[in-house]
Amino acid sequence: MTVKVTRKKKQRKPTVKALKAKIDKTFSDYIRQRGMDEKGMATCVCCGTQYPWQRIQCGHYCRRVHLATRWSEVNCFPVCYACNVLRRGNYASMAVFMYDRFSKKQMTQLVALSQQKVKLTVPYLLGVLERVRKLSVQSIANGPLKK
Ligand SMILES: [Zn+2]
Repeated sequence: MTVKVTRKKKQRKPTVKALKAKIDKTFSDYIRQRGMDEKGMATCVCCGTQYPWQRIQCGHYCRRVHLATRWSEVNCFPVCYACNVLRRGNYASMAVFMYDRFSKKQMTQLVALSQQKVKLTVPYLLGVLERVRKLSVQSIANGPLKK
């Protein structure tokens, strides 16, 4: 005779580290899918090369270290590995793209926002995750990125 032992699963509280990783993944998927065409191809905003969205990266204008704009859909666009890593963000080309798309006022606001200090807490990150999850749903309905 075997005795079935059922263990109560521990309800783990989310940690800042785990939430940050979850948001990074969810947000990156959104950014890379936002600009893709009907075949799933995304275009690098720096060099114009096309890749399947899974092979492109989420490029940041204001760098990821700035937490206030790390998950901003205005600050992030699809960027290829060559531009994002090998060319260290291909910053000049991304600046051309950004200033073509946004007004000087919008760019000033974005940069100012990036300079704000953000303390990552579990409640704050849960709020970000909720917002980012909604963006992901919209990306499919919105189709290719329009200027
Ligand atoms: Zn590129």
